Amino acid sequence: MPSPDLLRGVGMTSQRTRDRMVGRLARHGVRDRRVLEVMAREPRHLFLDEALAHRAYEDTSLPIGHGQTLSQPWMVARMTELVIQEAPSRVLEVGTGSGYQTLVLSRLVKELWSVERINALHRRAGERLRLLEVHNTRLRLADGGHGWPEEAPFDVILLTACASELPAPLLAQLGDEGVLITPLAQPDGRQWLTRVRRREDSFETERLEAVRFVPLLEGVIR
Ligand code: SAH
Repeated sequence: MPSPDLLRGVGMTSQRTRDRMVGRLARHGVRDRRVLEVMAREPRHLFLDEALAHRAYEDTSLPIGHGQTLSQPWMVARMTELVIQEAPSRVLEVGTGSGYQTLVLSRLVKELWSVERINALHRRAGERLRLLEVHNTRLRLADGGHGWPEEAPFDVILLTACASELPAPLLAQLGDEGVLITPLAQPDGRQWLTRVRRREDSFETERLEAVRFVPLLEGVIR
C-alpha cells in the first residue's frame, strides 16, 4: 500500500498544484463542475513514471512508454464533458493507455469498459485503478477497433486514439441515440474531434474541434 503522501501528493504533486491545474481548465472553458471536482481530487501523478510525476499537473501531454502519451488535462476534461453530457450508463473506452482518462470517467458514469492493445500499458493501468479502488470498470487486452461485442450496446463509445475512418464494429455497438466520440484523421492528416450519433440505422456526424492524438492501430502487443 503506498503512503498517504504518495497518493495525495507533495510539492509539485500536491493538492495546491492540482487546484491550480483545475483553475486553468476552468479559465480555458471547461464548465462542468463534476469534471473539475473529479480532476481536482484524483492523483494524475500516479499515472506517470516517477521521473515525470512532477510534471503531472502541467497542461501538456506526457510520454507513458511504448510510443504512447497521456493526453493533456484539457483534452481529458473536454472528452469527459462530452461523454457525461449524454448522461450515459454504459460507456466503452478504446485506448486505456495510462488509465487516467479511465479513472476520471469511472467516477462519473455508472459502468465502464476499457480496451487497450499494449499488454504492458493494460496491466499497469489495472494496477493503478485497483489501488484507487475503481470497482465499476472492466479492462481488456484487445484490439479495440472490434469493440467489446459481448457487452454492447453502449450509450457512449470514446476513442482516445485517432481513427482514419469510423470503425464499423464500433458504430454497430452503439445503442439507439448512442454516441461515438473520436479523433478522426482527414486525408490531409489533420485530426478533428468528431461526434457521431446513432438515430436508428442512420448516423449523424459533427466535427467539433482540431486535436492531436496518437493513431488507432490494429492488433495486440503481448
Ligand atoms: N486515454 C489515454 C490515452 C493514451 S494514448 C491516457 O490518458 O493515458 C492512446 C492509447 O490508445 C494508447 O495506449 C494506444 O496503445 C491505444 N490504442 C491504439 N490503438 C488501439 C486499439 N486498436 N485498441 C486498443 N487500444 C488502442
